Amino acid sequence: MILSPTSENLTKCAELILSDALIAVPTETVYGLAGNALSEKAASKIFEVKQRPMTDPLIIHCHDFEQACNYFEINQAIERLATALWPGPLTIVGIKKDIIPNIITSGQETIALRIPENPVFRKLIQLVNTPLAAPSANPFGYISPTEAIHVERTLGGKISAILDGGRCHHGLESTIIDLRDPENPILLRHGPYGKKQIELFLDHTIRTVCK
Ligand code: AMP
Ligand code: MG
Repeated sequence: MILSPTSENLTKCAELILSDALIAVPTETVYGLAGNALSEKAASKIFEVKQRPMTDPLIIHCHDFEQACNYFEINQAIERLATALWPGPLTIVGIKKDIIPNIITSGQETIALRIPENPVFRKLIQLVNTPLAAPSANPFGYISPTEAIHVERTLGGKISAILDGGRCHHGLESTIIDLRDPENPILLRHGPYGKKQIELFLDHTIRTVCK
C-alpha cells in the first residue's frame, strides 16, 4: 500500500513501526525498509523479507547527533564529520553501545550509523523516537529502488506500507566510513560524498578498503 506522507499517515506508520511492522521509506539515497533497530523481532523481519544473509549488518538511522550518541562511542573524528556532513548520505562506523541488539550488527562490535536528510524519513524517526534500521527496500541482490512503485512491485505484499516521498535525490547508497580509530579512517563504500570531500574535515588520510 503506497501512502502519501501526510501527518495522519506518518502517525499511522509510526504506530506500525512501534508494533514491529516494516515500512518502506523515502531517503535521499534510495528507498529504505525501515524497522525498529532496538527490536530483535523487527530486525529479524528485515532479514527475512529481504532474504538478506544474517552476516550482512544493518545501518541504523537517527534523527540527530544527540540521539546517535546513545548508540555508538564518540571520538573527535566522528564528532567533526557528524557536525560537517550530517544530515546527509554519509554512514559512520564506530564502536557500538550494548543497547543495540547483536542481530543488527551481525554480532560485530561496530555499528554503522547515519542521519538522513530526507524530511519524511526524519519526521518518522522523530515520531517513533527510536533508531530505525533501514537497508534498501529490495530483495537481496536486486537493484535498489528509487521510487515508491519499485518497492511496491518487489516487496508490496510483504510489508505494512510504503511512504511515498517521490524520487530519491541521489539514487545511490550512502558513502560508508569506518572511524572507530580516529587516526586510521577507512572508506568502506564509495557513495555521494567523495574521499577528498571527507578528508577536508579529518587530520588523517583515508585508506580505501571497499568491497
Ligand atoms: P546497506 O546494504 O546499504 O544497508 O549497507 C550495509 C553495509 O553497511 C554492510 O554491507 C557493511 O558494509 C556496512 N555496515 C553495516 N553495519 C556495519 C557494522 N556494524 N560494521 C561495519 N560495517 C557495517
Ligand atoms: Mg542494498
